[in-house]
Amino acid sequence: MPHSTPNPWRHHFPLIDQPSCDVNRLSYLDSAATSQKPQCVIDAIEQYYRHYNANVHRAAHTLSARSTSAYEDCRDKVADFIGANESNEVIFTSGTTEGFNLLANTLPYVEGQRWQEGDEVILSTLEHHANIVPWQMLAERLGLVIKVIPLDCNGDLSIPHYQALLGPRTRLVSLTHVSNTLGTINPIKELTRLAHANSSLVAIDGAQACAHLDIDVQEIGCDFYLFSGHKMYAPTGSGILWGKYPLLNLLPPWQGGGEMIKTVSFEKVQYNQLPYRLEAGTPNISAIIGLGAAIDYLSSIDRQQVLRYEQKLCSSAKTQLADIEGINIIGEPKVQGSLFSFLIDGCEPSDIATLLDEQGVAVRSGHHCTQPLMTSLNLTGTVRASFALYNNEDDVNALVTAVHKACELLL
Ligand code: PLP
Repeated sequence: MPHSTPNPWRHHFPLIDQPSCDVNRLSYLDSAATSQKPQCVIDAIEQYYRHYNANVHRAAHTLSARSTSAYEDCRDKVADFIGANESNEVIFTSGTTEGFNLLANTLPYVEGQRWQEGDEVILSTLEHHANIVPWQMLAERLGLVIKVIPLDCNGDLSIPHYQALLGPRTRLVSLTHVSNTLGTINPIKELTRLAHANSSLVAIDGAQACAHLDIDVQEIGCDFYLFSGHKMYAPTGSGILWGKYPLLNLLPPWQGGGEMIKTVSFEKVQYNQLPYRLEAGTPNISAIIGLGAAIDYLSSIDRQQVLRYEQKLCSSAKTQLADIEGINIIGEPKVQGSLFSFLIDGCEPSDIATLLDEQGVAVRSGHHCTQPLMTSLNLTGTVRASFALYNNEDDVNALVTAVHKACELLL
């Protein structure tokens, strides 16, 4: 790739925005693990703690009214951002993981529709542990059956196998929008349509999608959509479970405490309405306010342009690495997001990542919380390079040069 062209977003990120001549220059290619934060998000958190830190919802005083208003504004922003019908469909969580645990601990226990032994949940080989383990824990409790959609040789879900798995006992299909290991973008609209034709509910793991793709839950048609703030330029500890209101409204409470009740006596508890019924205790107020700022940020930029830019960087890096002898690119999905996995023949992923780190290139190595995927690929781990809007051609060049050097040392 040619030398770096100006990137209109890079200077928004203080940790990233270093001169390209800096010898300690960092090429951060680990945004799929967590993204860096723009100044406006950092400012929003600072403003909250400096000027209006107070607990939300519970007080009559002015400071609390201000923090409540900023906090609830964020719910409206999220609703707009993903095309929800109303803000009450937006449940704040600490992240995608908590969202799936919430769902697995409530959805199967809806009065009159309790899941029974032998009922089925369909997952895919691509799933992150956050969308596997909560269902396995539930399966152990209720005697459910978990069925898994296999991949074709490119790393795409096998649709014929999926169709064959859907059956009369399928209660839920829970799939990732974008694979955090191979970068596969799943055709979730079509997958949802097929599940609904089978009268099954659909949950989508949007953890790797929200920073990169426009999300419209009406267009997708799914029943639940979950994501984490920290992967979309917001702070850690902020996340969302979105659900269609009539479905969410059936979910029983899962964690008990303050906020989720209307009245409590030792004889009886009356639960609060949505969204509060599913949000017990003091929330992570500053993180949610930061999420609101991140959504403002994402809404202020041309997201189609960003996606094209990220995919171009990603595909250039992939093509250049593929040309190096001894490099294996893992998977060739039909539609790929802004990340890919690779290996150097016969080398440990952690050794490769350490050598890249010594050259200022931050990548992730290991199983990426997708051990079943690794097993299906007959691997123990990969090296993953993931791109975000603040990366540039210098980062691609740094990665390619560092991999060349690693090959010289390791092969
Ligand atoms: N799902 C996917 C696809 C992910 O990539 C991740 C995190 O890497 C998660 C779920 C879990 O997200 P969190 O750790 O923010 O809860």
